[in-house]
Amino acid sequence: MSVRWGLIGASTIAKQFMINAIRAQKDGEISAVMSSNPERAKTYAAENNIPLAVSTLDDLLGADIDAVYISTTNELHLEQALAAIKAGKHVLCEKPLALNSTDARTMVAAAKEAGVVLGTNHHLRNAGAHHAMRDAISAGRIGKPIAARVFHAVYLPENLQGWRITRPEAGGGVVLDITVHDADTLRFVLGDDPIEISAFTQSAGMAGSGLEDGAMCIWRFGSGIIAQSHEGFTTKFADTGFEVHGSEGSLIAKNVMTQKPVGSVLLRTAKGEEELSFDREDLYARSLRQFHAAMRGEGQPSATGEDGVWSLASAEAALLSGKSGKAVAIEPKLGSAK
Ligand code: NDP
Repeated sequence: MSVRWGLIGASTIAKQFMINAIRAQKDGEISAVMSSNPERAKTYAAENNIPLAVSTLDDLLGADIDAVYISTTNELHLEQALAAIKAGKHVLCEKPLALNSTDARTMVAAAKEAGVVLGTNHHLRNAGAHHAMRDAISAGRIGKPIAARVFHAVYLPENLQGWRITRPEAGGGVVLDITVHDADTLRFVLGDDPIEISAFTQSAGMAGSGLEDGAMCIWRFGSGIIAQSHEGFTTKFADTGFEVHGSEGSLIAKNVMTQKPVGSVLLRTAKGEEELSFDREDLYARSLRQFHAAMRGEGQPSATGEDGVWSLASAEAALLSGKSGKAVAIEPKLGSAK
């Protein structure tokens, strides 16, 4: 039996990655796409070989579909997810799950109540590089983890220089866009939850309307690990990377905060240096594979709804810290998702 997907949102991310990721599954097919604009829906469906184009949520949810993938702008996720859950559809939702963690918790509770799967599309925890880092840490290869550094300041491509830098009401800004990913990747790789964050945010010339286009955050984790992360839209020439430093070794990963299965992970200890090998499976295809399994009752999505609450609660705390100039506690108000 195929899993029939309905796409909510005629978006760039669906076109660039998710349509292929769904079709890469043996049992994945795309039945319908919804855009708020009927003409756009038709054009998008034709360009991407999708049989049905609709322009209302009711029409999408009334179609023959098992699951929806939500990739509209962020302010729409809550209402669309709740409607899909009410219609008994499984939901893979883009990050941030909503505009605030209270709404994200509402989505998690609704999915639980309805008995449908809710996943958050945090792609980075599906990267072979991050699995290799997490495995090395849990195998004790760097001893006791002490500190982490995340380099995730990029240049927002021109075709995406829209709502992210102009529309606060749509959930624009680099913190809701990239800090959420860093929160999730740190949690996944370290196997630990953040408890406190201190952030400086900036508007370095790209974002308007009071939105931030750069952030530097300092994180404290439950076990005592401290971390720093740098997110940005405006740095054209920076590399991405992720380092974790422990009592007996360091992991130094380069070019791994990206959408593609690329980059390298170096383990450095008293014995010398070793390049860790890892699988190069497409990040989004792995996300879909695990989501399909979760729909069959086998395990959970790679990032659950609870993981989405954690990342959003972290981003919320970062934004509050940026405004108040004080460190802020991260309170997802959930049990630990680990
Ligand atoms: P887009 O700007 O491409 O799409 C968002 C919405 O904008 C679409 O739903 C569509 O509305 C409208 N839109 C898109 N292109 C056009 C166009 N050419 N003309 C008119 N309207 C257009 O956003 P992204 O794909 O970058 O992001 C969508 C969501 O996915 C966000 O929540 C974002 O945070 C998330 N995301 C996640 C990533 C990940 O790796 N996990 C990576 C990138 C984004 P309509 O559907 O009504 O036509």
